[in-house]
Amino acid sequence: MALETLAKLKARMAQVDDLNAAAAVLGWDQTTYMPPGGAPARGRQLATLSQLSHERFTAPEVGQWLGELADWAAGRPDDDDDACLVRVVARDHARMTRIPNELVGRLSAHTAASYAAWEVARPADDFATMRPHLETTVALAREVAEHFPHDHIADPLIDFADPGMTVVTVRTLFDALRPRLVELARAIAARPEPDTSCLRGTFDVAAQRAFGETVIRAFGFDFQRGRQDTTAHPFMTSFSIGDVRITTRFREDDVGDGLFSTLHEAGHAMYEQGVDPALEGSTLAGGASSGVHESQSRLWENVVGRSRGFWDHWYPELRATFPHALRAVEVDTFHRAINRVMPSLIRVDADEVTYNLHVMLRFDLELALLAGDLAVADLPGLWRERMTADLGVTPPDDRDGVLQDVHWFGGLVGGAFQGYTLGNVLSAQLFDAAVRAHPEIPGDIASGRYHVLRDWLTQNLYRHGRKYLPVDGVTRAVGAPMSIEPYMAYLQGKFGALYGL
Ligand code: ZN
Repeated sequence: MALETLAKLKARMAQVDDLNAAAAVLGWDQTTYMPPGGAPARGRQLATLSQLSHERFTAPEVGQWLGELADWAAGRPDDDDDACLVRVVARDHARMTRIPNELVGRLSAHTAASYAAWEVARPADDFATMRPHLETTVALAREVAEHFPHDHIADPLIDFADPGMTVVTVRTLFDALRPRLVELARAIAARPEPDTSCLRGTFDVAAQRAFGETVIRAFGFDFQRGRQDTTAHPFMTSFSIGDVRITTRFREDDVGDGLFSTLHEAGHAMYEQGVDPALEGSTLAGGASSGVHESQSRLWENVVGRSRGFWDHWYPELRATFPHALRAVEVDTFHRAINRVMPSLIRVDADEVTYNLHVMLRFDLELALLAGDLAVADLPGLWRERMTADLGVTPPDDRDGVLQDVHWFGGLVGGAFQGYTLGNVLSAQLFDAAVRAHPEIPGDIASGRYHVLRDWLTQNLYRHGRKYLPVDGVTRAVGAPMSIEPYMAYLQGKFGALYGL
């Protein structure tokens, strides 16, 4: 009986997955190859697919099947694929059905209008235009959250992105992290600044692309099951375990921008390519949360890709690729340049030490907006105050201040940013656990070999997809709960050596 119901649930989830994947293909095309004339019809096509998917998923019979399967799933082993499927679908289903359809409609119409306005307002440094949009966004975010039980109004929104996390758990982690990051950044600021001029010059874009693809092929990104294209804002998207795509942008005058973006998105993609094929089409074939996903992009981009061992192996090839620009630059100089710590205005360009201070600022402001402690009208001023206090730099305008990130203007306020810092913390903790299991990994990296690291990650994290709550999945992988200690040890070790602290 349960098996018949399970078969019906799986068939329905496969349909939902197909509709979502079709929408993802259209979305990928929209930001890579679609001519501008395609925009109006593409918006309509995406809306149709997401509506169909939502209808198929929230249909009354799905709730009935989940009800019938709850006891059966509870009696199965914790790691059983089917039991995990029932639990995860039940969680997604509860979320989708609590939010009324008419609110979903208002939300997507508002978000589209706000995003279109932001695309014009940001370059024009025009916060006044965005103010009413953002006021509506905050009101809608509150309305969404009110449909869920919560201690803090932001809790449901955080849980959407990082299941199992709350304001309290995130805040506890951030409060422990902040003073240690500030102390490290201060100590670094007192040391001489590295020379970064070697990163600027003229770097042929086709050669940059070929170099980046050579590196990620060595990492284990599978081009038989993925590809790379160029776009304005890099991202990763997955249509199935057999088709995971990344996008990158290159700047001819900057050798780091495109390369580290490629390594970052490849980290996201290898996670998706590493999911157990048995989970294909089941809604379990994806990342566990925004934080766990980001841990993989940051691990491959920073912990591996900005390490000295990595460059001991790759620098000769990079230099041979760009002899004109790099002939007189030693690997030491290059490695210091790509790891320069310098408080700056823009989150996405921030170094590893100050990056999390950008995230914490946004997290605090989100909570204040949602709790009604901060009016949208006062947001740009408070942003400037916090940037000055936290990072020691003051944005000259809103374009490079409060308007810089798309998240609040093309999505919801609440839950949008904490995953970046959770990802940084987890990147070090997972790498640390892999090295404890296989002490040869750092030596491998210095020789351009990555399969031991990648296989450990696949075995302990990637293959499980969304089967476990992030907190459980991480504990399974590293044998301990999430902790900031490996991350602080990583930062202090690396930047202590680079800056002679
Ligand atoms: Zn990312």
